[in-house]
Amino acid sequence: GKGAAMVTAVAYRLAAQHAERQAILNILRLSHEQLLEVKKRMSEAMVRGLSKQTHEQGTIKMLPTYVRSTPDGTEDGDFLALDLGGSSFRVLLVRVRSGKKNKVDMHQKIYNIPQETMQGTGEELFSHIVDCMSDFLDYMGMKGASLPLGFTFSFPCDQSKLDQGILLNWTKGFKASGCVGEDVVTLLKDAVRRRGEFHLNFVAVVNDTVGTMMTCGYEDPKCEVGLIVGTGTNICYMEEMENIEVVEGDDGRMCVNVEWGAFGDNGELEDFFTQFDRDVDDCSNNPTKQRYEKMISGMYLGEIVRNVLIDFTTKGLLFRGKLSDRLKTRGIFETKFLSQIESDRLAMRQVRSILQHLGLTTSTCDDSVLVKEVCSVVSRRAAQLCGAGLAAVVDKIRQNRNLQQLSVTVGVDGTLYKTHPHFYRIMQETLQDLAPQCKVAFLKSEDGSGKGAALITAVAYRIQNGEQH
Ligand code: BGC
Ligand code: MG
Repeated sequence: GKGAAMVTAVAYRLAAQHAERQAILNILRLSHEQLLEVKKRMSEAMVRGLSKQTHEQGTIKMLPTYVRSTPDGTEDGDFLALDLGGSSFRVLLVRVRSGKKNKVDMHQKIYNIPQETMQGTGEELFSHIVDCMSDFLDYMGMKGASLPLGFTFSFPCDQSKLDQGILLNWTKGFKASGCVGEDVVTLLKDAVRRRGEFHLNFVAVVNDTVGTMMTCGYEDPKCEVGLIVGTGTNICYMEEMENIEVVEGDDGRMCVNVEWGAFGDNGELEDFFTQFDRDVDDCSNNPTKQRYEKMISGMYLGEIVRNVLIDFTTKGLLFRGKLSDRLKTRGIFETKFLSQIESDRLAMRQVRSILQHLGLTTSTCDDSVLVKEVCSVVSRRAAQLCGAGLAAVVDKIRQNRNLQQLSVTVGVDGTLYKTHPHFYRIMQETLQDLAPQCKVAFLKSEDGSGKGAALITAVAYRIQNGEQH
């Protein structure tokens, strides 16, 4: 009868909507072959970055770090450390004692960097950093102390020695003027001089990936890779000196800061880039740059999700087709919300209440289910892309050493990696799938940026003073 026909029509409409949603989500789903292709292109980009002829044009910069070995336990002394460029800005005092392993003491204070300061002038930014250092020294009762400093500066820097770093470009939320092309050690020392309250004698510039590798290397000598999946993403690893053409010398190894976030900036990810990614890129501080990072890291994932939800809503597939002001607001999906929404422990009504808290009132239970599915498709793609890149890195180490099988440890840090309920597992599955000849262990870094920077500074400071005497 009539009733049955109506039920059929509704069922038909629902099935059509379901198919429409899935068709959109499928654009964000990657096959094994596609991931293999990402790995291959990443491998090629790494080789290009290492070679003298192609280094300049390459997207991946493969920056030498002047860190030549992982820690050996002889590091010693008291150090200040700065951690700039992650989810929080911190000043630390790190006490490293040689001999006894794990003898590292740390004190830290977290400071806020206002958005205006991140995007104001370089002078303002560095003055703010120095103000925080001064406050920290006060707080520790160390006013006037002059300690060597490990400066974890989580941006791409050209280094020709440890105590210098020319900023190549800002990434993530930073955009302070007058810094690109400048040595960040000089910028910091100038700001210290302006304040005229304390001195800096030695400053080592350390990327957060390198600090992470060093911290984990202190516990596990097999740790020769450092990975960050946080606000941004990046990786470093121990490369053979003979392959690093931009640095003199062929003996031993040096840690290379891959700066893989820029992978894709020459179109290497074009076939995987969606309209949702394009929108994120357009609205970012650095359009057309850091393409790979923008598909993976915490600063961008929530925005991809939001763009998909907007698309669904506009097409009448979500929120009853009503586009709220809230959904139009940038940055509402912070990493912590993604992690919460995707947690398996949550019942759907809890997901619904998180969404409500975000100001997104879901009209039906299906809405919550769908939002959760969008989050999981977007974060799965991120974890898979990250795993594909990691596969390229560990396979490179294996091939460098002519090994059938490589066993290696990766030190990891970053809020997304640490808080997301599935990122780690999916990344690892992808890695196993794409680099079956590598046995990879993961070690979460308990604070790479402080400890690792201090360990690096300890070695550099010792060498410098040894050379002077
Ligand atoms: C920066 C890297 C950094 C990474 C993780 C990227 O945006 O370019 O230098 O290691 O973020 O913090
Ligand atoms: Mg960090």
